Amino acid sequence: MRIGGLQPVTLLDYPQKVAAIIFTTGCNMRCPFCYNPDLVLDDLIAQNREFDYSEMVNFLVRRKKYLDALVVTGGEPTLQPGLLKFLKKMKKIGYLIKLDTNGLNYSVLEILIKEGLIDYLAMDIKGSLAHYQDFCGLAVNTENIERSIALVKQSGLDYEFRSTLVKGLHRKNDILAMAQAIGGVKKYFLQNFDSPGKLVSSDFSGRPFGPKEREKILDLVLPIVGNCQWR
Ligand code: SF4
Repeated sequence: MRIGGLQPVTLLDYPQKVAAIIFTTGCNMRCPFCYNPDLVLDDLIAQNREFDYSEMVNFLVRRKKYLDALVVTGGEPTLQPGLLKFLKKMKKIGYLIKLDTNGLNYSVLEILIKEGLIDYLAMDIKGSLAHYQDFCGLAVNTENIERSIALVKQSGLDYEFRSTLVKGLHRKNDILAMAQAIGGVKKYFLQNFDSPGKLVSSDFSGRPFGPKEREKILDLVLPIVGNCQWR
């Protein structure tokens, strides 16, 4: 496991639970609007201190009495060869696990679910499947995204889909296609792009949507997915 960060406690990232967050490094996408370039771009990853795996595990073992859950995010956590073993260890000591994923690594996602290692899944939908590369920065196999959507919906787990929407990048037809790609779901969260600083693409120039635009987007998406809100 390559760990780029650890947040010892959060009350916001696992619904109704007290959790710690670990941030894995490396990603199989390059979303231009991604605000975690330190976890995505190889040259930046190399410049930053990597967390010692054993130290992190010991910390999580010691903290278990104060924590309910562990959020595993990235980067893209399913790229970590040691993820299965790590999650087994964490489940054994009683952690609930939330996994954040972009859904591209379908086969790993399937194994983790089958092994009972995930309690809550959050999967990103980056853009319309027909033009996914425009949103995730690389040519990717969108069949895997479709398969992961179906897998998550049929998993029986608590789950959410979520999308960061960027004015100037996501157009009405894209947003409509994204909603249609997931269909009726338990939860779909929309996140307004809010450029806090460094992004994966240094020359990216998207903007946040305004309040009226956000309302219109919700009106568009809600009838298709059934449960949607801005976060
Ligand atoms: S936003 Fe995109 S580039 Fe950033 S971590 Fe997620 S999938 Fe990777």
